[in-house]
Amino acid sequence: MTPLAQQTTRDLRWHNRSDLLARLYLGESTSRNDLARASGLSPATVSNVVSDLINEGLVAEVGSVSSAGGRPRALLRVRPDFGHVVGVDIAETRIQVGLFDWTLALVAEEVYPVVATRLEPVRVVEVVLAGIDRLTAEAGIAPDDLLGVGVGVPGAVQADALTPERTLVHAPTLGWSEVPLAEMLAREIGTPLHIDNGAMALGQAETWRGAARGAERAVTVLLGVGAGAALTMAAEPGGRARSITIEWGHTVIEVGGPPCRCGSRGCLETFIGAETILRHYQGLAGSEPFIGVGTEDQLAELVGRRRTPAPGGAAGARAAARAVDQALGSVVTYLGIGIGNLVNLLGPDRVVLSGWAGAILGPALLPAVRDTVSRHTLPYLHGRTRIEQGELGPEAVALGAATLPVARLLADGGRATTSA
Ligand SMILES: [Zn+2]
Repeated sequence: MTPLAQQTTRDLRWHNRSDLLARLYLGESTSRNDLARASGLSPATVSNVVSDLINEGLVAEVGSVSSAGGRPRALLRVRPDFGHVVGVDIAETRIQVGLFDWTLALVAEEVYPVVATRLEPVRVVEVVLAGIDRLTAEAGIAPDDLLGVGVGVPGAVQADALTPERTLVHAPTLGWSEVPLAEMLAREIGTPLHIDNGAMALGQAETWRGAARGAERAVTVLLGVGAGAALTMAAEPGGRARSITIEWGHTVIEVGGPPCRCGSRGCLETFIGAETILRHYQGLAGSEPFIGVGTEDQLAELVGRRRTPAPGGAAGARAAARAVDQALGSVVTYLGIGIGNLVNLLGPDRVVLSGWAGAILGPALLPAVRDTVSRHTLPYLHGRTRIEQGELGPEAVALGAATLPVARLLADGGRATTSA
């Protein structure tokens, strides 16, 4: 064969391997026959690739199913013990470092509350590295044996115009402009490192393992101190989803409204960001002081105070209940209109409310939010979409970040560990 033909054959083999590994990883347990049918590859090719994947510890046979008239077919599944990844969520209220097996089951995590008003990049790097060291040491894993580290940031990650292989993080809400975070971390991390926007990473996680599973076009909403979103579009079956980040929190929803951190006015974030919700409540007549000190505790307290005042109850109690209703009612209105705008703009078949504040607010407010959305969307778009609570819990963004190195590994057919 000519070198070109050799190259093409090799590429094809890796493409097949990557395709089959992704189907095994992202789907349910399946048999070689089902893989052949779904991928269109020949049974012999599937059998060869699966043998390699089993020999290299990526995949295992896990029982069998009987087949009509034939011998039982072995079921295949990816092996969780193939390796581990780390996912890091750099958020405005905390830095979360999670150690996951490569199927994204959480092994252990550390959460560092952020008290400073501005996160110094050097300090963030120290915290992240210390977290990785501690978690891997406790789990008995050498840091260099990790399959990769993913980091989600509340901002944009762009290639440096002068040195395209270098990425820079722009996160105005952290006070970061052109921070070479990947470079700073890579000096100390000996495994593949991936950095991306936190909402984008979260959208990928909800699509793989959460409430956006099976959606054609999912919008995952990340509610925290700020409000972001990501649009994830499913590829053809077995292909990889594609995501884009949406600066949803900075879409103007009230002309001349309250000033926003971004320099504009009346942004959606100034109505549904966790801190603005709390500030709004505290400015209302009848509001009561919080017991907790952190934003997360206080938001949970506010939601926990929802109650119907007893008829004829004390005036103070009625006023207190009114303040809670007013604050949360405002969240329902603006969140509903904000999601309605996403539905009208993007025509998703699924909207997922996620992020730590989404996890606190959603269970209490989602029915009312759905109702608001229905009144602000075009019927033909509203009719084809479902609005769901995120399923990934408080470590959703860290888990999303952990999908970044796994996505790379799947695209590479699981070979990242064998090369370099
Ligand atoms: Zn803004």
